[in-house]
Amino acid sequence: MTLPTDPAKNLADLIRCPSVTPEDAGALDTLAQMLEPLGAKSEKPVFSDENTPDIANLYATIGEDGPHLMFAGHTDVVPVGDPDQWKFPPFAAEIADGVMYGRGAVDMKGGIACFVAALARHVEKNGPLKGRASLLITGDEEGPAINGTVKLLEWARERGESWDAAIVGEPTNPEKLGDMIKIGRRGSMSGRVTVTGRQGHVAYPHLADNPVPGILALGQGLIAHIFDEGTDEFQPSNLEITTVDVGNPAVNVIPAKASLAFNIRFNDTWTAESLQEEIHNRLDEAAEHDCAERGLEAPVDYEVEWIGRVSPVFLTRDEKLIETLSASVEAVTGERPKLSTSGGTSDARFIKDYCPVVEFGLVGQTMHMVDERVPVSDLETLTRIYERFIQDWFG
Ligand SMILES: [Zn+2]
Repeated sequence: MTLPTDPAKNLADLIRCPSVTPEDAGALDTLAQMLEPLGAKSEKPVFSDENTPDIANLYATIGEDGPHLMFAGHTDVVPVGDPDQWKFPPFAAEIADGVMYGRGAVDMKGGIACFVAALARHVEKNGPLKGRASLLITGDEEGPAINGTVKLLEWARERGESWDAAIVGEPTNPEKLGDMIKIGRRGSMSGRVTVTGRQGHVAYPHLADNPVPGILALGQGLIAHIFDEGTDEFQPSNLEITTVDVGNPAVNVIPAKASLAFNIRFNDTWTAESLQEEIHNRLDEAAEHDCAERGLEAPVDYEVEWIGRVSPVFLTRDEKLIETLSASVEAVTGERPKLSTSGGTSDARFIKDYCPVVEFGLVGQTMHMVDERVPVSDLETLTRIYERFIQDWFG
């Protein structure tokens, strides 16, 4: 059997499976077959939950004893939009001028293709791995993310699996390959503030209680001061008001209710709890201040509701993992990558509860776009970086 040493071929095989969440379209089997010549043991647990589609996942492991490295990622992709807008059919993996086009090229079948090629090259040159490498691949990252990484990690742990370090192969580089390794992520939390008043005629305000001035004062109170100035590793925490809702179509009616929603991206000077306390304090202060300003009998009555699940903040401090990956990038590209915690959340937020985790993959510029694409030379470079990392981390 030929080893899967060519990342472009690996990627083309994966792109040709139109695995738009929740469809798998053969992507995981294609990957499992690709890993077979490496002696991988693969299992494909399917997870289900109420109100979400069943999702297939893949756990493939190579090697026996020794240090255990996890490579995590996803084979599902976002929809293509209007296929006629694409230069080439989005699941054809067409190459033009040294660039491969296709949905998932960078986010993130490309990262998987390169990691598999790196493993294959390492084994081809050095023989069996001095430890274990496991691929933890979900088909549910771009969708509801209910039947994916969270359950796959639990499933593996129940079977006695544990890992010493993990790399997530999401596209982390903003401009060019080797720019950036992500060593943590800010937390994310959303909430809604509601002020309830009393509906009435605008000409008789004394008979009504308008909630709009109150919600405006509370919103102003939320953003009046900075939360912190950031740290060496993190940007300052930031709150954005994302909507203000009154929903009143009439110009002569005082509405009964007004609300606003916000999202906070926060660094490790806060926990979800301390931040919620801070929000309540800010709202109380704003309500007091508004009461004095407008000469009200009592501060406006408000309610806060926390929306969805909180993504906790995390920072990886594993010297060996970070240094080995940084040195591998530098050895191949000649430049040292920036260590960053910027951007949105990723599945690394779940993996961090099991082992130290960093993220490094392709350049993210065309992800989720029409004509998602990757230079074949980038695939080669990333494969060489991963190969170097595998050699040194296990070495
Ligand atoms: Zn992704």
